[in-house]
Amino acid sequence: TTQATVDLSLTENGEIDHEWALFLVNQNNPLPQDYSIETKTVYESYMKFKMDSRIADYMIQMISDAKKDGISLIICSAYRSYEKQKAIFDSDVKSYQAQGYSYEDAYAMTAKNVAIPGQSEHATGLAADVLSDECPSLSEKFENTKAFAWLSENAYKYGFILRYPKDKTDITGINYEPWHYRFVGLYHAKKIKDSGLCLEEYIEQQKAGQ
Ligand code: ZN
Repeated sequence: TTQATVDLSLTENGEIDHEWALFLVNQNNPLPQDYSIETKTVYESYMKFKMDSRIADYMIQMISDAKKDGISLIICSAYRSYEKQKAIFDSDVKSYQAQGYSYEDAYAMTAKNVAIPGQSEHATGLAADVLSDECPSLSEKFENTKAFAWLSENAYKYGFILRYPKDKTDITGINYEPWHYRFVGLYHAKKIKDSGLCLEEYIEQQKAGQ
């Protein structure tokens, strides 16, 4: 199994850690197609799930610490290449079309649930879909699990935020996803959790303050 030990303490003088990791990938801010990273395995089940090697240890540590608290986290998606994202998106569009929707409608409906290729955070290597054996599928019911309660309380300590909150769908443009966590660094994760802002709002506020 993968082991890691990371320093989870914030610097005493309030320095920002992992400052490079605070950037937006969304409808208005697509990731360059040639964005390339080194990856490291964070979880292994039927396949190896990988994240950006610069932050992978934080996810490994979070999974390990959750386990000590009796919570078995499951990763069901982590780093996903542009090509893989495109395959997922196209497949969903086709399934809506098979139900009788026009291509335009099928595309719009898919885009509500699946990021358009280039607009997925999974291509950054900083995001992962985290579930547990209580609810191992991508369902809103995950929010009723002990694992979700644990993540809500602890994910920020490892630099992760709930990226698509329930009350921010009009801003993120993405449906509520209680399973999607995004690394932004320890400093910003705490600030974001304390503020109740979503990443779009937080980055906007940061820009305004500069
Ligand atoms: Zn996700």
